[in-house]
Amino acid sequence: MRLFESKTAQMTEQTQTVHTPFSDLGLRGSVCRGVAEAGYEQPTEIQAQIIPPILAGKDVLGQARTGTGKTAAFGLPLLHMGDPKIPSQALILVPTRELAMQVDSEIKKLGRYTPIRSQPIYGGQRLSSQIGEFEKKQPNLIVGTPGRVMDLHNRGVLSYANIKRVVLDEVDRMLDIGFREDIRKILGGVKRPAQFVFVSATITEEIETLSRKYMDDPVKIVTSEGALTVRQVDQKYISVAPWDKRALLLHLLKHEEPDLTLVFCRTKDTVDRLAQHLGKHGIEVHSLHGDMPQSKRNSIVRKLRSGHLSVVVASDLAARGLDVSGISHVINYDLPEDPEVYIHRIGRTARAGQSGVAWSFVSADQGKLLTAIELLANIEIAELDYPDFTPGPIPEDKRAEMRKEPLPDDTPNSRASGPEAVWEKNEDNIDPEKFPGGVVPSGPPKRRLGGRMKTRRGR
Ligand code: AMP
Repeated sequence: MRLFESKTAQMTEQTQTVHTPFSDLGLRGSVCRGVAEAGYEQPTEIQAQIIPPILAGKDVLGQARTGTGKTAAFGLPLLHMGDPKIPSQALILVPTRELAMQVDSEIKKLGRYTPIRSQPIYGGQRLSSQIGEFEKKQPNLIVGTPGRVMDLHNRGVLSYANIKRVVLDEVDRMLDIGFREDIRKILGGVKRPAQFVFVSATITEEIETLSRKYMDDPVKIVTSEGALTVRQVDQKYISVAPWDKRALLLHLLKHEEPDLTLVFCRTKDTVDRLAQHLGKHGIEVHSLHGDMPQSKRNSIVRKLRSGHLSVVVASDLAARGLDVSGISHVINYDLPEDPEVYIHRIGRTARAGQSGVAWSFVSADQGKLLTAIELLANIEIAELDYPDFTPGPIPEDKRAEMRKEPLPDDTPNSRASGPEAVWEKNEDNIDPEKFPGGVVPSGPPKRRLGGRMKTRRGR
């Protein structure tokens, strides 16, 4: 069995989007009505490429990032092929509860003129009420996280007997989160023949192996749209010493008044502390992380959707798959260690062709990470000098550390020089041989005051 590249994968995005109206994809009228009502005028690249082979019953391995319309790409054919008389006929596995809710709501929206019923099942909600609803509704399509799907199956509530189609969404994330074993058990329990569709932002060797194991002569679709979506985001980085990050964020939020901002931190702890700090300084802020009760997370996502929030501080897991339009700014308060996560984060803005802004706080030691992100996103991220911000003094413990450590020959991040970190003049540390001609700098280079950032307000 061999994976082959779809011929259309070579085509440009323009060819795909301009010449393939939804009506040419072979979707039934009730589905097209839902699409029209959702306001989708033309299929995105992934939709144009993936819908025909899925409708033809083929197994498909598709590469598509969040924000490219991937949900409708697999959701529309499932609605088209759905049989309202058969419960649990298709299973969509997703990595997080937020994504389960979001995929389910997109399918409900697009399928509103079809008789096909969908239900999300995910952890964090009371099992008994989820089971009750499931038994009452007998959904045709199930959108679930692997753990909860296994749970309902093991309790005899969810039978795999009728499952004819399985979609794995964000396969790379599911494997990252550690759902390998659950996925193996679920896919292994589905009766053959069945149709499999895997969608992933990146297609790794492991994902290829997984598809070879379960799929029959699959079509592999590689799109260029992910990179294009990322390019629509106006990306900048701001050099900042770690101890100045809070002050800089507060300053940006107060001075720029962005419409709706998502601030990303690496840990739940930082999320909580940062949200508290901003709150104390008069910013109306909410936090979103995995340890919060599901009901609270749902209510924040609802408020976000209805445009009632302006600043949300979030962890990566909680914000996965968050599909909220109108997010004007994404701020990477902490740069993610994994460049892929950066792409996912900034994909929260510039949804479906809107413009968006992504700023990343970068400290002196994060140059390599920034370069890795640029390589993956295939874009040069320019530095933004924020003219009105005055960095604070270096905390005493940092000063002591810096006195101990000799200055590196080649600062890993000469571009992102947290100015004081490298330039604090300390006679003991300065090696005159590093400054030919004997001119030893007496302070940090002047901040460039030119490039005031573009914002909605300033445009
Ligand atoms: P997704 O990649 O599935 O997370 O979708 C990203 C966003 O694009 C969602 O807000 C969708 O509602 C929207 N979307 C999906 N398909 C289209 C389309 N053909 N035209 C315009 N917007 C779309």
